[in-house]
Amino acid sequence: MAPSQWIEIRPEGLYCVPAHVYVDPTRTVDAAIVTHGHADHARSGHGRVLATAETLAIMHCRYGAAFTQERVPLALGASIELGEVQVTLYPAGHVLGSAQVLFEYQGTRLVVSGDYARQPNPTCQPFEVIPCDVFVTEATFALPVFRHPPIQLEIAKLMQSLEVFPDACHLVGAYALGKAQRVMAEIRAAGYDRPFYLHGALVKLCELYQQWGIDVGEWIPVSDVDKKSLGGEVVLCPPGALADRWSRGLPSVIPCMASGWMQIRARAKQRRVELPMVISDHADWDDLLATIQAVEAREIWITHGQEAALMHAASSLGLTAKPLHLVGFEEEGE
Ligand SMILES: [Zn+2]
Ligand SMILES: [Zn+2]
Repeated sequence: MAPSQWIEIRPEGLYCVPAHVYVDPTRTVDAAIVTHGHADHARSGHGRVLATAETLAIMHCRYGAAFTQERVPLALGASIELGEVQVTLYPAGHVLGSAQVLFEYQGTRLVVSGDYARQPNPTCQPFEVIPCDVFVTEATFALPVFRHPPIQLEIAKLMQSLEVFPDACHLVGAYALGKAQRVMAEIRAAGYDRPFYLHGALVKLCELYQQWGIDVGEWIPVSDVDKKSLGGEVVLCPPGALADRWSRGLPSVIPCMASGWMQIRARAKQRRVELPMVISDHADWDDLLATIQAVEAREIWITHGQEAALMHAASSLGLTAKPLHLVGFEEEGE
């Protein structure tokens, strides 16, 4: 049976008919598979949620214990039968617990990759190429201008600024789930051994990462210290706090931001970022093209982001591609 006959795009999201389950539904449903914990993929209120144990823990942390009536944990690499469909999760390399979903039904293999990244990330398992007939891909950074540099180069910019401005407070804007922990781990890998100071909005997820064995070294909540004493330190906050009242109490701040969008100068300017670090947890243009070829799928279905550009590129590579026009996804994760 053609995949378009058993996978439907409904107002709630992508639906696997014979398994009676949605993937990352944007409205509440009876049964959902959630690829990862970012807010636009993982919503509260579904009847049942199948996800990795890490993703379930992240949802619990963000939404409270009552985020769903039933949790179905499934390990990466493990399978479950839903109706006549075999469902297997594989690592997506995006954030802790992030998974691709393989549906196998009547001899056809369809992979929903969620958000994914191909660069090494010390805070989650690396993306696995899963050969399939249909590959559903995101397109967040699907323009040829997006080429993510090696993260070490971006971290080196921060290390250099710390040397040149030893009394400044380096305030790094980073999303609370995934980006903050990855940046911290990479700063450690660059040899930085002073404690980090964290905005309150990052504390719970950093604790959660540590419970799952992701070591980011010592950190102290900013609320535990006198803000005026943080000259010369690295402070992390959510992007929204970079320029708000909270940051005003910090001494001689250099606003920094870790995001794939920092490749666009206007975005950095808009947030008044002085030290932009191009650090993305999504596949860039080259990685998207490499991945849609590596999975050897006969069809590429494209979800949120720059669908048109990726469609065009896929067609020029001789692949059949179509946009899914899924709604409700944002530029989160960056
Ligand atoms: Zn996304
Ligand atoms: Zn995401």
